[in-house]
Amino acid sequence: MQLTYPALLQQGIFINNNWQTGAATFPVYNPANGEVITNVYNAGVAETEQAIQAADAAFPAWSNKPAKERSDILKKWYQLIIQHSNDLALLLTTEQGKPLTEAKGEVQYGASFIEWFAEECRRTYGQVIPAPVADRRFFTIKQPIGVVAAITPWNFPIAMITRKIAPALAAGCTVVLKPAEDTPLCALALAQLAKEAGLPAGVLNVITTLQAAETGKLLTTHPAVHKISFTGSTEVGRILMQQSSSTLKKLSLELGGNAPAIVFNDADLQQAVKGTLASKYRNAGQTCVCANRVLVQKDIYPAFMKAYQEAVMAMQVGNGTTDGVTIGPLINQDAIDKIQKLLKDAFDKGAELLCGGKVHSAGPLFFEPTIITHCTPEMELSREEIFGPVSAVYVFETVEEAIALANNTEYGLAAYFFSKDVQQVWRIAEQLQYGIIGINEGIISFAEVPFGGIKQSGYGKEGSFYGIEDYLITKYLCLGGI
Ligand code: ADP
Repeated sequence: MQLTYPALLQQGIFINNNWQTGAATFPVYNPANGEVITNVYNAGVAETEQAIQAADAAFPAWSNKPAKERSDILKKWYQLIIQHSNDLALLLTTEQGKPLTEAKGEVQYGASFIEWFAEECRRTYGQVIPAPVADRRFFTIKQPIGVVAAITPWNFPIAMITRKIAPALAAGCTVVLKPAEDTPLCALALAQLAKEAGLPAGVLNVITTLQAAETGKLLTTHPAVHKISFTGSTEVGRILMQQSSSTLKKLSLELGGNAPAIVFNDADLQQAVKGTLASKYRNAGQTCVCANRVLVQKDIYPAFMKAYQEAVMAMQVGNGTTDGVTIGPLINQDAIDKIQKLLKDAFDKGAELLCGGKVHSAGPLFFEPTIITHCTPEMELSREEIFGPVSAVYVFETVEEAIALANNTEYGLAAYFFSKDVQQVWRIAEQLQYGIIGINEGIISFAEVPFGGIKQSGYGKEGSFYGIEDYLITKYLCLGGI
């Protein structure tokens, strides 16, 4: 990997704007070929404590800066990310695997949250409330909640970070970030650019670690940390919530999904194929909003399946840096094992293979774009996130059946459906128990809109004007003696 700006490749633990070493290191692998890209320092509990102290010490000055000054620094950071976007995309593909075009898209998308919240922080208005008594006046003001701990996953090594820390920093909070152990390099590159943008020491601290449980325990129980923002599995979300109860921290949890993509008889075929394909196979199926279940109505089923299979089989599997590749490797062997386990269970219970179904010849972490049909709710993949390039297809006859199938999950993050009937569109959008609904569209994430789930997909919103609210407290002032 040849970066034009080598300072973006860092190995240190980032505390107080310094790159620190640690007692040990751990390797970061390129999932496309298994090569070690570099080794990074492994932060332990001691470094985590140091990072929390640094964030705590930086909070008064940062939170008291006028919003305009924080905004200017964030805008500079945004510009630096755009300026170095090719390097960042290459770094992203190298440690995470997604095709370079998708990585470039993620850099832009990730940066857009910094731009957006640099603007939003200048509009965190309070209120003047009419009082029911003559001698008092009521107001609310918005203030940053305090030190924020952000714990992020590997599937979007830039965007999952900026979605959290841009609103946090914009609001006036300081941050300890713990990126995923599979993809720490993008996080460190972002920190380097934040420093160059003029972010004061201690405002953003990054601890790379293999000791997720120990550092997570400290972050969730430390009295100086006031908010946890987590994206990852529902299982880990539950642990963090439990641990946070000892100090009653505010939580934002963006957890697992089990998105249905529903194709109704009256759907525009091209839109349905394009939308489902984009939702399902983006990032090789490794997103929490990927279509986990494709529900197709009986009459459109033959035509849809023919077009969908053609589109799936046209996808190019390979190293993400190779031109034309649309499906890169999965993140690690666990991901491959999980898919194979889910497929075996589905076949044992009657599923049929339409295409794909096995590890691809490109290497041990590549999986063929796969479609299986005759899926039923009894199969494990109806309940669990597949997180790989596998479409599980179900057939339904009535609208009621589709809604019941779609809502038959503990999760409630994203759902998609394809229909041209305006009345049906409205009814179904209301009946789907999900926080995000894509209607005739498979790509739904933007900095301007509220991203977040319901049910066991968690709570809190990222992006939009709601996104900064999660990092603010509303303080009520009562002025008496008027
Ligand atoms: P995924 O299945 O996407 O890897 P995880 O929930 O396991 O999801 O991981 C998401 C993030 O949570 C990663 O940064 C990981 O290191 C971190 N993590 C995993 N286990 C814990 C834990 N017990 N406490 C705190 N963070 C954790």
